[in-house]
Amino acid sequence: MLGTARGQGFEHVEAADDAEVIVVNTCGFIDGAKEESINTILEMAEYKKQGSCKKLVVTGCLSQRYSEDLAAGMPEVDHFLGSSDMPKIAHVLEDKAERMLVGNPADWVVSANDPRTLSTRGASAYVKIAEGCNRKCSFCVIPQLRGKQRSRRIEDVVEEVERLVDSGVLEINLISQDTVSYGRDLGDGTHLAELVRRVADVKGLKWLRLFYLYPEKMTDGLIELIADHPVVLPYVDMPIQHAADGMLRRMRRGHGGRRLYDLVERMRTRIDGLTFRTAFIVGHPGETPEEFQELVDFVQWAEFDRVGVFRYSDEEEAHAFSLGEKVTSQDSYNRARRLMSIQRKISKRKNKALVGKRLQVLVEGPSQESELVLVGRHRGQAPDIDGTVFLSGGEALPGSLVEVEIGQATDYDLLGDIDERVDPIFGIGKTYTRPSMVHSASDGRRVLRTV
Ligand code: SF4
Repeated sequence: MLGTARGQGFEHVEAADDAEVIVVNTCGFIDGAKEESINTILEMAEYKKQGSCKKLVVTGCLSQRYSEDLAAGMPEVDHFLGSSDMPKIAHVLEDKAERMLVGNPADWVVSANDPRTLSTRGASAYVKIAEGCNRKCSFCVIPQLRGKQRSRRIEDVVEEVERLVDSGVLEINLISQDTVSYGRDLGDGTHLAELVRRVADVKGLKWLRLFYLYPEKMTDGLIELIADHPVVLPYVDMPIQHAADGMLRRMRRGHGGRRLYDLVERMRTRIDGLTFRTAFIVGHPGETPEEFQELVDFVQWAEFDRVGVFRYSDEEEAHAFSLGEKVTSQDSYNRARRLMSIQRKISKRKNKALVGKRLQVLVEGPSQESELVLVGRHRGQAPDIDGTVFLSGGEALPGSLVEVEIGQATDYDLLGDIDERVDPIFGIGKTYTRPSMVHSASDGRRVLRTV
């Protein structure tokens, strides 16, 4: 949508009160996300009264799911688009569109020919390799919101990655709803490991990260690639959801707990320096105290690097909605807290073990808290969801890879000094204008220096 808008002569502004058109891209698959989306729409609607906003557009999964209700309850919204309607933003910007533009959720998947403007910082980009999901996990409404899986052709993904790398991108993050199933719908033998190898071989790419690896079909070929290819990061993002057999069956995950123990063991042994991120749901219907304890035991055994814990959200279109034995809100809250507190100690210990190590860090730019401090990420920190490395001492340009010696660690973040004796790596094809750069001196003073 940003790429389309730019192609039509629009400029992307940071502050909402400067915008003539505001697009709210919503999420609508659990209660917390719905609430956040609605609050954001209402907040943005204020700019139609006060700011320069003439058009408010709502898009994404919430408007796909509740288009009629939203249209009736929010007269201040000018247009509604769904989860497969991104190209329709062109008609909206041309003033040629009707109010309701929500279509079939399975209509569209992005391609290399679509215009693109990056919204990520620091030479990093997400690349969507497929849309939709063919699974039937009990708690999830994403297949209804996104439709059946549609994978892009390998050549199309590679073309997009080549273009991004040519413009200076060093890190690519491959995403979809069910990444290990990539290619199966194409029916010609295309599979994820083949795509990953082709993308990782793109000249100039330094980091390749994979998201949403469902545990059921994690192949040895893919594990080998993560372990051995110098560009594929030893970073696994695998939403495991639960570890007790009974719960996995009720969640309709297609495998039991034994497989998870085996898989985690296999990956830890085979992939040197692995960072393992996962997510769990607590309080799903039927979860007994004993089953929750099995999950706790698993988390303590596995010692994941990063864990997200979600409380079950009862969604009317999901299979689990019809299941009995609902867990009380208080119990699911207590279970989430207990799991998080166990994990916090593990994450802290793992972060502290990095003090004194030298790590390659991708510089993102000034931190959100202060323009005076630069931040970046090492290979084990994914954009947006993991912690960051605060950089002190030395100079660096956003979008470069620098060598950093880690000096301190908090629960989730790190602090380190840039080693200026090691030349930074820049993206190919990128021309830097050598901006005035703000950073911290190693003695703690905040200085402004031109680099
Ligand atoms: S694999 Fe993911 S997107 Fe697909 S149904 Fe399961 S939880 Fe939902």
